[in-house]
Amino acid sequence: MHNANSSWQLRNYSIAVLASAIALLFSLLISPLLESVTFSMFFTAVVLSSWYGDRGSGALATFLCSLAIAYFFLPPIYSLSVMTLDGTIRLGLFVSISLLTSELNAARKRAESKLQESENRYREMVEAVQDYAIYRLDLQGRIVTWNTGAERIEGYTAKEILGEHFSCFYIASDLERGHPAHSLQIAASQGKFAEEGWRVRKDGSQFWASVLLTAIRDKQGSLLGFSKVLREMTAHKQAEEELRVRARQQKAIAQLGQLALSGINLTALMDETVTLVAQTLNMEYCKILELLPQRDILLLRAGIGWQPELVGRATVSTGTNSQAGYTLLFNQPVVVTDINKETRFRGSSLLFNHGAIGGISVIINGHNPPWGVLGAHTSRQRTFSQNDINFLQGVANILAEAIDRSESTQALQESYNLLQSVLEGTNDAVFVKDRQGRYQLLNTAAARIFGNAKDQIVGKDDTQLLPIDIAAAIRETDRRIMTRGRAEVVEELVREAGSLHTYLSTKDPYRDARGNIIGLIGIARDITERKRAEAALFRSNQRLETLQAIDRAILRAESPEQIAQAALERLTSVITCQHAAVILFNFNTGEAQILAGQIALNFAKSVVPITALTPLETVKQREPTLYIEDIASLSSRTPALERQLQEGSRSFLAVALLVEDNLIGDLTLFANRPAAFSPEDQAIASEIATQLAIAIQQSRLREQLQNYANQLEQRVTERTAALVEANNELEAFGYSVSHDLRAPLRSMQGLAQALQEDYSDLLDSDGQEYIERIIASAERMDGLIQDLLNYSRLSRAEMKLRILNLTEIVTEATSQLETLRSRQAQITIEQPLPEVIGHRTTLIQVLVNLLSNAIKFVPTNKQPQVRVWAEVGRAGGAGEAGGELLTQHSVLPRIRLWVEDNGIGIAPEHQERIFNVFERLHGEESYPGSGIGLAIVRKGVERMGGQVGVESVIGQGSRFWIELRTATMKT
Ligand code: ADP
Repeated sequence: MHNANSSWQLRNYSIAVLASAIALLFSLLISPLLESVTFSMFFTAVVLSSWYGDRGSGALATFLCSLAIAYFFLPPIYSLSVMTLDGTIRLGLFVSISLLTSELNAARKRAESKLQESENRYREMVEAVQDYAIYRLDLQGRIVTWNTGAERIEGYTAKEILGEHFSCFYIASDLERGHPAHSLQIAASQGKFAEEGWRVRKDGSQFWASVLLTAIRDKQGSLLGFSKVLREMTAHKQAEEELRVRARQQKAIAQLGQLALSGINLTALMDETVTLVAQTLNMEYCKILELLPQRDILLLRAGIGWQPELVGRATVSTGTNSQAGYTLLFNQPVVVTDINKETRFRGSSLLFNHGAIGGISVIINGHNPPWGVLGAHTSRQRTFSQNDINFLQGVANILAEAIDRSESTQALQESYNLLQSVLEGTNDAVFVKDRQGRYQLLNTAAARIFGNAKDQIVGKDDTQLLPIDIAAAIRETDRRIMTRGRAEVVEELVREAGSLHTYLSTKDPYRDARGNIIGLIGIARDITERKRAEAALFRSNQRLETLQAIDRAILRAESPEQIAQAALERLTSVITCQHAAVILFNFNTGEAQILAGQIALNFAKSVVPITALTPLETVKQREPTLYIEDIASLSSRTPALERQLQEGSRSFLAVALLVEDNLIGDLTLFANRPAAFSPEDQAIASEIATQLAIAIQQSRLREQLQNYANQLEQRVTERTAALVEANNELEAFGYSVSHDLRAPLRSMQGLAQALQEDYSDLLDSDGQEYIERIIASAERMDGLIQDLLNYSRLSRAEMKLRILNLTEIVTEATSQLETLRSRQAQITIEQPLPEVIGHRTTLIQVLVNLLSNAIKFVPTNKQPQVRVWAEVGRAGGAGEAGGELLTQHSVLPRIRLWVEDNGIGIAPEHQERIFNVFERLHGEESYPGSGIGLAIVRKGVERMGGQVGVESVIGQGSRFWIELRTATMKT
């Protein structure tokens, strides 16, 4: 390095010496001709030396040339000394200029070499750059230089690419629009052109590049070519692209969210959704499928890209029959890149028919089961990123939210509508107040109370709406309910359209979700009418009760005083009055009897002259109802009114007690305030007066009747006693007559017999027959008397009852029958016969009579057949009398003993009277008898506490029965 430098220095000095020598030679040759050129020659030598050499060679040339000038050309010639001033100045100038020039040259050379150095360093750097493709283009765009970066990025080696046109890096679409030439144009005109865009590598793959094209010009500004700096930005670009997609998707999500919140209806939201999804994902098809309730079918609710008529109609089956079905089944987003290669499920015809080959589907959630499926599909081959899936799921979530909200909004709306119609449908006032008592909500019925529109009332409290006293009362109640936290039912008074209304209000504390009382809910029912009706009902009840009390008093056969008292008590509980009275007039005596109450200080039970109460004529000429609103205002007053006025009475009501238009008395009422009696009061009083008049009249009549009845009773008792006495006397008489008759009859019989026995020879046949007839008549008479005696004995004798064996009695009676054998009668006794309670001889007599009749009253050509049997427990069969008897003696059971014959029978009209004494239906000739037999039967049985009767059909026979108490219980 040092050697090179010294040889370089040697060469420079040689140039200086040579140039100086040549300049001296030329100057010596031409100086005689042209002296002025001498300096120029030497100067040229200096310049040349410093140009080609360096500062040193310049200085050496300057030195050598100065010596030559001083020696050869400045006086003294051929001497190195310079004597003249001129010569000194000239030489000095020469030296100075030469040194300066060589210095300048040296500086220039240094600068040049530095430039060269830096240029070289730059070139090396450019060539070494890896990340950037940096190359030069000539004016036509052909590639002139190529660096490592360019080779790496574009894939060409320098050898391959130098001389080629740079348009080979552009993609087809850029080439089509002449973009490369256009870029050059802009760079040429504006100095540079920067862009980003797709470029093609040698292997045909594309990359995203950031490019700067710069025009290169020379110092004069003429265009020399272009430099191009290119950087590959694919990864960057992808990230950016990704980001942009994300942003777009996020924007779409936000947009949908906003739309969903805006309260748009569901169908519109779905339509918007499918459009937005298709746009955002850059897919042609989007669909919203709703899972129908039966869960085996999905309905295309909204869609884009599909044939429009399919929306709302097309269905897709679930399970592995469709992507959507599989999505539901799989319960996760499902991505399909090529439906034709799908193995997990069969693609739906909807997808196939539209040529959709790829897509994503996600679940739209619902409240178990899922609501449906959201799908986006494309007919292009493409891949889907996780972002795409997330985006679609995001959209589906918004939809789910919106659907849920729509459903709950609908439910809410429905329940609101229901509430509204319930609220408005009721006639009850319904309202909600806050803690301050301000109305928050109310129905029309409630608004009506205030006579104002609902919105005029909301926000106001009762003090702003109602009179202060009423509002204060309501407030007090509300405050109590909210403090205690307990519901109450209260009656509240409200003045409404001028009249007072009573409301029955149920008020409940109203709580927020945490249970704090934030107001109250009230339901108020207008019960004014009900109250009025209740009061009317109460009065009408009282009225009715009063009338009923009077009726009852009549039925209880109470006295007029009691009736009047009862009526007054009732009346004064319905009509407010201070004094009341019921007065009876007796116009015959001119007296008034106070039945109940008081009038003019006359009290019940007192009797006063009518005139002490009122002049007679005023009584008689009066209207049935007299109402004086104010006694004090009368110009003249009856004594009673005068008295009452002093007692403080003002109103007076008198209602006449009329019986068949005849005045029998008065019902009077006094009250201590004027005009006290309403028309209703008057109606009640008059109603009660009418009833009272009837009742009093009835009572009086009944009293009269009772008197008559008592008198009659008295008379009957007296007469009966007389009759009984007469009867007894008669019976005694009959008995004694019968008894007394027997003695003469005996003597007659005895004498007739004696006559027959002793004097029959003396008598002819007629005489003898007379005697026989006398005897027979006597016998008959004796029989009659005997019977009569028996009969009267029967009613007189004391009868001791015992338990009797009926079989034994019947047998005994049969044995006494005289005609039994003569008539060849057949008597059948049906066993068993019970024991009865009776009197032995009497019962035997009774049966003898019945049995002998049963044999007797049979035609002579017929064999009498008699049947006797007992019927246990049968009673009352003969009619009411029997029943009555039975119940009277029902302590013991009864039996009926029947005696049945096959005789002539008894006509119905005679069946009763044959039991009387001496009643016979036939002549003595056909059926002899005394007519006492059945009378004895009846009397005897009755004395034993029993009854008799007969059932008979004429010509067929009769059945007599006697009913007796039995000792044997029915088995
Ligand atoms: P007498 O048998 O003495 O005539 P009763 O008093 O026994 O008197 O009977 C009164 C009348 O009742 C009888 O005259 C008869 O006409 C009628 N009579 C009584 N028993 C029977 C009977 N079993 N069948 C038909 N008639 C009868």
